[in-house]
Amino acid sequence: MAAAAVQESPVKLGWVVAHHLPLRAPEKQSVLEADGVEERLEALLRLIAREQSVLECRTRIRQAVQREVAEHQREALLREQLRAIQEQIREIQGAKDPVEELREAFENPELPDQVRRRAQAEIARLEHSGPFSPEGASVLAYLEWLRDTPWRRFAERQLDPERVRRVLDERHFGLGQVKRRVMEQLAVLSLRPDAPGPVLCFVGPPGVGKTSLAQAVAEALGRPFVSVSLGGVRDDAEIRGHRRTYVGSMPGRIVQGIRQAGVCNPVVLLDEIDKIGSDGRGDPAGALLEVLDPSQNRAFRDLYLDLPLDLSRAFFIATANTLERVPRALWDRLEPVEFQSYTPEERMEMARSHLIPKVMGASGLEPEDIVWTDEGLRSAVLEFAPEPGVRALSRRLAALCRLAALYKLEGRGPFRVDEAAVRAGCGEQTEPERHRADRDLVGVANALVVSELGGAVLPIEVSLVEPSGPAWELVLTGNLGAVMRESALTALTYVRSIRGELGVPTPLGQDVHVHAPEGAIPKDGPSAGLAIVAALASAWTGKPVDGRVALTGEVTLRGRVLPVGGLREKLLAVQRAGLRAAVVPEANRSEVPRLPNSLLQAIEIRFVSDAKEALQAVLGASRKT
Ligand code: ADP
Repeated sequence: MAAAAVQESPVKLGWVVAHHLPLRAPEKQSVLEADGVEERLEALLRLIAREQSVLECRTRIRQAVQREVAEHQREALLREQLRAIQEQIREIQGAKDPVEELREAFENPELPDQVRRRAQAEIARLEHSGPFSPEGASVLAYLEWLRDTPWRRFAERQLDPERVRRVLDERHFGLGQVKRRVMEQLAVLSLRPDAPGPVLCFVGPPGVGKTSLAQAVAEALGRPFVSVSLGGVRDDAEIRGHRRTYVGSMPGRIVQGIRQAGVCNPVVLLDEIDKIGSDGRGDPAGALLEVLDPSQNRAFRDLYLDLPLDLSRAFFIATANTLERVPRALWDRLEPVEFQSYTPEERMEMARSHLIPKVMGASGLEPEDIVWTDEGLRSAVLEFAPEPGVRALSRRLAALCRLAALYKLEGRGPFRVDEAAVRAGCGEQTEPERHRADRDLVGVANALVVSELGGAVLPIEVSLVEPSGPAWELVLTGNLGAVMRESALTALTYVRSIRGELGVPTPLGQDVHVHAPEGAIPKDGPSAGLAIVAALASAWTGKPVDGRVALTGEVTLRGRVLPVGGLREKLLAVQRAGLRAAVVPEANRSEVPRLPNSLLQAIEIRFVSDAKEALQAVLGASRKT
């Protein structure tokens, strides 16, 4: 450009500049064709300005590229340094390269070929990306899961029925039928280890030993025990894992449990299968079916691992408080085994034989440090821990042991657990039902219900009031289900149909309100029919209902009393509530020989086949106290 700088003639300047500009042929042509010097120089100026902006743009791009390359180089350099530092540390510690270690781990001939092939491909990826890159970290985590999953590892122990029976008996008081059912299942398992047996589902109120019996089964079989808690699980990914494309993905709880167990055939407790979410968003029940169904679980595919895992030899035991809430899809696969509530006598015996030794051991007490009197234990069982299970009782006993430990420390000799000590040691008395149901009231009758917490006494209240509109109406409240509402309607029609026999002169003209207290708790089932009949008849006749009696029975429109379920649970609730008698359908009489003797001695049972007999038994009866 020095030549241009010395040019004085504008004509020549134009030619020199045009010659040096990197122009395409048509552009050069247009410069040549320009009319006059001025126009040529203007055309040249436009071309120069364009070239200048092109050059600036190129420079910007080049600088940006250089910066990026420098950053990459810096990162690569740092990674290389990190790798070198880690290697040196490993050398000092005598540890191996993780990739190398993984490679060796997957040479294990016991691994299924599919797993080994997948692992080799992933190791190649890992080598390419390096273990410290984000992708490398996720591949490394996946490889570790592949390595730690016990693909073909099984706990092997010859099944010894005698040992199993001994362990179950040692750990658990009573539960004869349940233990027998478990033994039968194990007998089949010992004859045909690969038989696709049904999954036992322990059903019963809380604290009756479902979880701890499952643990004892694992111990008896000599297999690891893992518990998978299903309460509140909504998303099927929690059961069968997330695909690896998902950020933060993990295997599901089943594979996590199997890895924790270290073998493919542990005892797996599917805890609270009735509390599994079913709000339609995910399908955890469907995922569980894949786990439990013998035609699918030989090759169970967790979405994260994405390789078939044999779950067919795992021993699954489910627990539930009630079978009704277990998703229907699973019913076919589950074999319900019922755990019943314990009677107070059973709980006392269990306290002596099992619970007390356990809590004393946990508190570091020796047998001579504490004297358990019968009346003290009875008070603890009846008044401070009346629940159907024994969890609350164990807590009460542990509280007493803590008191005894303090006694011992203060050198005050053995601690005597009598009624006064129980009152001092157990604090608040529970006594939930005892006082609320035993007064004679007009329009209130005691029904019996079975919920997931066991049996309970449920007072049914009826009021007759001035009609609020032109005609009287029936109002039902207290969170009653459809079946219970229908039995209230049936009961009302029945009571109106026997107006003459009840001695009520005028037809019903008032509003009828039937209420079951504790409205927050949903209630359903037909068996409260008899108590609703009694409460209605009492409200209409003005005669009080004997408050020390509870009634159970489904009532037809003609007043026939049909049998009910859950008799044992219901009668135990009568006993816990301190009531005197129960009115029970005649058709349930055949179950009585199977009821515990202590229960039959504690309460009187009156059998009825017609609702009128029940009314005679409870309405306006003068009390003999
Ligand atoms: P669930 O699973 O039915 O709610 P758990 O198995 O957790 O009840 O039992 C609660 C506690 O009561 C445990 O410590 C358990 O050992 C004890 N227990 C329950 N039933 C029995 C029994 N029949 N014999 C001995 N201990 C029992």
